Amino acid sequence: MRIVLVGPPGAGKGTQAAYLAKNLSIPHISTGDLFRANISQGTDLGKRARAFMDAGQLVPDEVTIGMAKDRMAQPDAVGGFLLDGFPRNVGQAEALDAMLRDEGVALDAVLDLEVPEDEVVKRIAGRRICRNDSAHVFHVTYNPPKTEGVCDVCGGELYQRDDDSEETVRTRLEVYHTQTEPIIDYYRTQGLVVTISALGKVTEVTDRAMEALE
Ligand code: ADP
Ligand code: ADP
Ligand code: ADP
Repeated sequence: MRIVLVGPPGAGKGTQAAYLAKNLSIPHISTGDLFRANISQGTDLGKRARAFMDAGQLVPDEVTIGMAKDRMAQPDAVGGFLLDGFPRNVGQAEALDAMLRDEGVALDAVLDLEVPEDEVVKRIAGRRICRNDSAHVFHVTYNPPKTEGVCDVCGGELYQRDDDSEETVRTRLEVYHTQTEPIIDYYRTQGLVVTISALGKVTEVTDRAMEALE
């Protein structure tokens, strides 16, 4: 399956993507995780992306689209993938469509996670991620690690993302509304959008998502 996950920052995209990718046996591709890995490895791409991420703005398309395409061209993604955080504007959605068309394949669904803004703010404020791998995600109250500050998965140090500060979150929510939400209408005209509530326990949301994708 080829699936796109959309939803505001803090909706639980990464959390759900981890379970869904496992259930569906497809790779979880998160452009945010790819950027953070590039930053921690000190690559040129990481250097180009960093200031935009710290400001809560989108990284320019000429950087992002190439990185996403390279990842989707990896052997594990040939049969399908779960995209988390890409596309994030209409230009990226058009680039993805063109790429899939060239390969003679198409998206199966766009899963839209709906969460009220006050809940999103609480989820982001308590989010802690692992230094080794930003796909290892915890929450200080909703999903605390067994030992405070230590990743259950790999033992790495947990920290708060720089862009999870209150001020940057406000910018990211605005960027979501103005630049990312329009892709939902774009995909709606293709009949691909399924919207589910992302409220409730992680497992409940996963069940809802699996049902919506059937
Ligand atoms: P996104 O990738 O959409 O930004 P994350 O998956 O990183 O969101 O989740 C944001 C925060 O909310 C994390 O701290 C995560 O542990 C927590 N979280 C995710 N899903 C839920 C849920 N259903 N209920 C409570 N907290 C959640
Ligand atoms: P969240 O989980 O809170 O939605 P992400 O980890 O997906 O956040 O993204 C963090 C930051 O990385 C974004 O604010 C943006 O600066 C950058 N980013 C991630 N994906 C994209 C993309 N597709 N296009 C442009 N910038 C992106
Ligand atoms: P299991 O061992 O049942 O496969 P985990 O040990 O990964 O599951 O998770 C235990 C519980 O913690 C799950 O019920 C899930 O709802 C919740 N959980 C796991 N990861 C996260 C996360 N990143 N954010 C919020 N809740 C999570």
